[in-house]
Amino acid sequence: MQLNILILPGDGIGAEVTREAVKVLHKVASKFHHEPVLSEGLLGGIAIHKTGTPLPQETIDLALKADATLMGAVGLPEFDNVAPDKRPERGLLGIRKVLGVYANLRPVRSYKALLDSSPLKNALVDGTDMIIVRELTGGIYYGTPRGIEGSGANERAVNTMAYTRPEIERVTRVAFHLAQNRRKKVTSVDKSNVIETSQLWRKVVIEVAAEFPDVTLDHLLVDTAAMQLVLNPRRFDVLVTENMFGDILSDEGAVLAGSIGMLPSASIGDKKPSGAWVGLYEPVHGSAPDIAGQSKANPFGAIGSVAAMLEYSFGLKDEAAAVNRAVETVLNSGRVTADLKPSGKPATTSEVGDAVAEAI
Ligand code: NAD
Repeated sequence: MQLNILILPGDGIGAEVTREAVKVLHKVASKFHHEPVLSEGLLGGIAIHKTGTPLPQETIDLALKADATLMGAVGLPEFDNVAPDKRPERGLLGIRKVLGVYANLRPVRSYKALLDSSPLKNALVDGTDMIIVRELTGGIYYGTPRGIEGSGANERAVNTMAYTRPEIERVTRVAFHLAQNRRKKVTSVDKSNVIETSQLWRKVVIEVAAEFPDVTLDHLLVDTAAMQLVLNPRRFDVLVTENMFGDILSDEGAVLAGSIGMLPSASIGDKKPSGAWVGLYEPVHGSAPDIAGQSKANPFGAIGSVAAMLEYSFGLKDEAAAVNRAVETVLNSGRVTADLKPSGKPATTSEVGDAVAEAI
């Protein structure tokens, strides 16, 4: 299979971890006889330096041509005090918009070697393997009217949580498609006992579920879901929810796995004519200026993003599993960066990448 992928290394450790992710991508592609066709573009601070804008037109054109995009991270301290629309991070919002991605996926897995880094008891977190699917373009972060008005005792603020049927349908379908390739269970999270958007959410999710008779569906109220994530994380396979609930629950899910450097993410849109799902894949972490250029960055989040890309955009489950297995092998071997190794000599970023490629 030809894998048309755009690489956007970005800033700081973004470039360092992406280099290792690409190394692993080449290795897994060669093992399974695929042909990676990679292009590289500018995004973020480096793009501002070279072109004056965080998202150059050339990057937009490359992104629209590619089947999937792998990103590192953006952000440079020198831009910390400039206006929001001139910051590197604006490039990230821009590329999400250009690609039309509306479902944010956060796989949350526990690794045996990292059980002690989890804030939960080992026995609770061991075996956790879920994907949190967060609706990304609707809900209270975008709804109007919004704003702050009046003054003194009359000062008031308003935000609007709004959802349309098509917005709910498309993200729900992504969740069910994912579940079909996993343990075939979707948990929809809402607050339908109190708010109308959640009542519509639940009604539409139930209707969409009828298209997927091989997948079971259950519903949790968001407060119960927050509790269940820490009481019984193994109960979840695919969790789907609206934007703000997903924002909060996905960060709760993130800490179950231990270090921030471990976490991949994916943002998915519609299917392309090629059959690939449009997708933007990136580690959850930022550009980490405090460790940039020191070969200390943990590349597992970026490498896990390659696994997510193979599985979600290209439907290559075995290849994704091979990457995840290799990550587990390297974790068990102790060849890991300093964030995962409180004592002893840590491995460098590229040594970890080499080890994962070797393990594949
Ligand atoms: P950060 O994620 O970059 O770093 C937070 C802490 O975690 C730092 O101490 C860092 O050293 C550590 N860390 C992060 N990734 C690591 C890894 N792979 N291995 C080892 N340690 C790691 O968050 P921040 O410091 O709040 O932000 C730094 C810059 O990144 C800012 O400009 C911010 O806007 C940007 N940012 C970008 C993204 C993105 O591109 N998606 C996400 C978050 C932050």
